[in-house]
Amino acid sequence: MTMESPLNTALAQLRGTIDKLGLSENDWQTLSTPRRVMQVAVPLRRDNGDVEMYDGYRVQYSTTRGPSKGGVRYHPDVDLDETISLAMLMTWKCALTNLPYGGAKGGIAVDPSTLSATENERLTRRYTSEILPIIGPERDIPAPDVGTDERNMAWMMDTYSVNAGFSVPGVVTGKPIVLGGSLGRTSATGDGVAIATREALRVRGIDINGATVAIQGFGKVGYWTAIALESMGMKVVAVSDVHGAVTGFPSVSALWDHFLANRNLDLPGTDRLTNEELLHLEVDVLIPAALADAITESTAPGVKAKIVVEGANGPTTPQGDQILQDKGVLVVPDILANSGGVIVSYFEWVQDKQNYFWSAGEVKENLSSILMKAIREVEEVSTSKKVTWRDSALMIGVGRVAEAHHLRGLYP
Ligand code: GLU
Repeated sequence: MTMESPLNTALAQLRGTIDKLGLSENDWQTLSTPRRVMQVAVPLRRDNGDVEMYDGYRVQYSTTRGPSKGGVRYHPDVDLDETISLAMLMTWKCALTNLPYGGAKGGIAVDPSTLSATENERLTRRYTSEILPIIGPERDIPAPDVGTDERNMAWMMDTYSVNAGFSVPGVVTGKPIVLGGSLGRTSATGDGVAIATREALRVRGIDINGATVAIQGFGKVGYWTAIALESMGMKVVAVSDVHGAVTGFPSVSALWDHFLANRNLDLPGTDRLTNEELLHLEVDVLIPAALADAITESTAPGVKAKIVVEGANGPTTPQGDQILQDKGVLVVPDILANSGGVIVSYFEWVQDKQNYFWSAGEVKENLSSILMKAIREVEEVSTSKKVTWRDSALMIGVGRVAEAHHLRGLYP
């Protein structure tokens, strides 16, 4: 394990937070250990009849504040170390936003673009059946993450329900609306990133009208963030996908229409940039909304944005973070910036429990009120304790989990 492993980074952040909060060694022991780790071998019968084995995981990092909650990632780099670190981040994220959840994450080490729809369905159903004993609406509630979407959630919900003998919509969130999904869930992470961006601009005294933004990523998070920011009056000057970045498009929707029709960002009249050039653009706000390790020791020195809003989970390495801090960049950390997704997942779970569904307006209003409360708390602790927003967010999240541990006590 190298020093840059996501788990080492997450553990180092936790250690620092425990020290800042003045918590004990016992707290470090209880908070630095995932409570349940499941590794499964997932066999897949390919369309041509070949059988392949894939590594799958589900990590329930904490269940102290409620059932564990978190996404399922399909990506070739998925491994146990990364899944534990992401489950740990989910724990602090749910506590920071005060959702009645612990934290979890799951995934399969697979490149979903190599799977046909039928292969993806078989893999998802088999993975679900392997982790079936430990998930459920009162235990652990999966959701989409990188490489999965509402189709995967529909198959997971169906596999779980067929085994239960009745429909259990609340076993996953991020489902299609007709299966008990929530209005506003698809755009929720992006809507939350946009709210966090607006508030960071306010704190930095930058007018939102005409403020410029570059977004790394144009997927589930990046696209909806771009749409929301444009509607707030910001100018989205560049976005990227895995193949590189693009600038000079007339509007986000024009680029999106081209992307849907052609599966590339080569809209006529636009200019291509490398991903690194996007990170170094002269903009007010930079939003890494793709994968980990975007802002590192080597890319951070060239960042010119005044604000970085982490749409992705863990896009900034500790060295990159230190460089941004030295430059005076305001970094809105992942557990705050991208929490809109899990906040609306919580609404979906509540609606499924009650069999009573909310309007899009109610979802948006409640998302804004929960997220704004968390933003204000982070701002307040950051000012009073003179710490970064990341340290402040972690102090609030970790502090709440520690307090719940203390109150519940240790059994036996
Ligand atoms: N995968 C998303 C995240 O990292 C959403 C998790 C959820 O909705 O449970 O926050």
